[in-house]
Amino acid sequence: MTNYDFDLFVIGAGSGGVRAARMAAQTGARVAVAESGALGGTCVNVGCIPKKLYSYAAHYAEAFEQAKGYGWQVDAHPALDWKTLKAHRAQEVTRLNGVYGRLLDGAGAKLIRGWAQLVDAHTVSVQTTEGEQRFTAKSILIATGGKAFKPSFEGHELAITSDDMFDLDPFPRRLVVVGGGYIACEFASIFNGLGSKVTQLYRGEQVLRDFDEDVRSFIAAEVRKAGVDLRVNTDVTRILKTVDGLELTLTDGSTLQADVVLYATGRIPHAQGLGLEALGVQLKSNGAVVVNEVYQSSVPSIYAVGDVTSRVQLTPVALGEAMVVVDHLFGDNQRRMGYNYIPTAVFTHPNIGTVGYSEHDARAKFGQVRVFKTDFKPLVHTLSGSSERCMMKLIVDAASDRVVGLHMVGPEAGEIVQGFAVAMRAGATKAIFDSTIGIHPTMAEEFVTMRQAVS
Ligand code: FAD
Ligand code: NDP
Repeated sequence: MTNYDFDLFVIGAGSGGVRAARMAAQTGARVAVAESGALGGTCVNVGCIPKKLYSYAAHYAEAFEQAKGYGWQVDAHPALDWKTLKAHRAQEVTRLNGVYGRLLDGAGAKLIRGWAQLVDAHTVSVQTTEGEQRFTAKSILIATGGKAFKPSFEGHELAITSDDMFDLDPFPRRLVVVGGGYIACEFASIFNGLGSKVTQLYRGEQVLRDFDEDVRSFIAAEVRKAGVDLRVNTDVTRILKTVDGLELTLTDGSTLQADVVLYATGRIPHAQGLGLEALGVQLKSNGAVVVNEVYQSSVPSIYAVGDVTSRVQLTPVALGEAMVVVDHLFGDNQRRMGYNYIPTAVFTHPNIGTVGYSEHDARAKFGQVRVFKTDFKPLVHTLSGSSERCMMKLIVDAASDRVVGLHMVGPEAGEIVQGFAVAMRAGATKAIFDSTIGIHPTMAEEFVTMRQAVS
């Protein structure tokens, strides 16, 4: 039997990598994890966490405005101290980096700092500050995540990606966001709330492709009402540096001035330079690692989870996939990931929360569906003066009565939809929703009181 240095060598200490390394080490396996950047990966350093902190910051702008309707005297115009927000965010991210380090340490996983590459199916080379080090392992897990993609065009180098948004200096007075996905929509809302004049440009008919049509049109209307200049069927042909900042030329020939241009046009798997091709690891056309149901690649000792597999790019999905790998290698190999009914939220203002099928996809999959929909002014806004509205939608498979799609645009939609996702995974029917007692007065109670199908 070959003697390897480790049972499992993980490349990348982000969401998936840390979870796999930690859980594997807790089973008694000998585990190492290599990381070339900050512990915690995208989510902790330049993703979910700092983004949500900035979203909270932006919500205060609405709160100050709305407090007046509740009798609060907000005398001076509240002003954002961007430097303080950045410093506090950085402090929290550093604290989390430390937590991740301690989690690995506590579980007994060895952290190796440096850029890792595969030498063969069982050997990893890491470029550390002390030079190259080689390690052998029975299994290797690629958890290297993804990176922002920017298309090539004249002046594309003047645009930044979401990685650069958190530490901008100075605060952008005029921000142009290009894209219509999660990142573009979230950053447009967040910086609009923080005080930038935001223009969002999307090349297609409507933002958030693949989301339910009603959700897409509703959020577009809400963000416009909130102040984002959202322009669809619009793209950028050129960016020039001028004395006044940046000048964008748009597809209709018009121009637009900006201090910062954010390109949020998707993320690509971070799989280049790892030596995967040379080892014969099968990759998709976009470079993502092809894996089976236990995340094993075409080379049996090499596994991959998370964004590098380019399936569902969400932290909880990377964590779930890591748990399957650990169970497969060191447990009873029973665990599998279900990709149906993965709940997700887009932290626009207001939030979007969704689980299951869009109406369009449900009709294609189930044929006959019943659709329930409501759109109302939340109670909080009866006094706040805000014109923000809330939309909720249920899609029910007519044959089985199962609720197969649940969508919300409104305050705390992510928090609300998380709970309903449990019911949906358990196969809850519309009859069960109807027999559930609501919590009054809440917005969420609408999900159990919608009686009349709209179609
Ligand atoms: P990552 O967390 O990206 O970790 C990969 C790690 O590998 C990195 O630390 C990297 O430095 C390291 N690495 C790469 N190559 C090497 C190498 N050769 N050697 C050593 N180390 C290497 N998801 C949500 O669920 N909710 C959200 O609200 C959310 N918000 C987001 C906001 C933004 C702006 C972005 C960009 C993403 C967001 N995501 C969100 C997505 C989420 O961050 C990712 O799906 C998740 O981080 C993927 O985890 P991962 O383990 O695959 O990769
Ligand atoms: P998305 O894939 O969600 O969106 C990319 C957007 O860019 C789409 O609107 C796409 O348009 C557009 N686009 C792509 N190429 C071009 C181009 N060449 N020119 C102009 N527009 C282009 O990617 P994001 O970067 O927004 O986010 C990456 C992933 O990160 C998300 O899919 C999500 O999984 C994850 N994430 C999750 C969050 C959360 O859970 N809250 C928050 C942020 C990110 P089109 O639709 O026409 O293709």
